[in-house]
Amino acid sequence: MIALKDESEIWWETILEQHYEEALARANSLCEDTVLKSNGCRETSTQTVRRVRFRGRQLPAYRFIYCVVAKTPAAADEVVRHRCHNRLCINPDHLLLGSRADNKHDDWDYMANGIDRRLL
Ligand SMILES: [Zn+2]
Repeated sequence: MIALKDESEIWWETILEQHYEEALARANSLCEDTVLKSNGCRETSTQTVRRVRFRGRQLPAYRFIYCVVAKTPAAADEVVRHRCHNRLCINPDHLLLGSRADNKHDDWDYMANGIDRRLL
């Protein structure tokens, strides 16, 4: 079976194959510019989700960092989720890749129980 790659995956593959050092340096400098919380969250100093511009694209910093650190090209329909439910957090250990449906289920679970059991 041939899986067609979308434009987001192709962009990421180019970054990971040809500009990895540069991408990693950017991810590291973004991580350094954060406040470390007692729960391990690395919060950006911005009021809303920090965005990063890199090689002609603008995307949320947490998505950028996840894909670089995990060396994972994200497809356009995949979302990077926060296990900690803190959207200002860019700690790669708190991020994971999932579908939009997963993201919705996370929110429901969190609203119902107030806790993400995968963090326990
Ligand atoms: Zn976090």
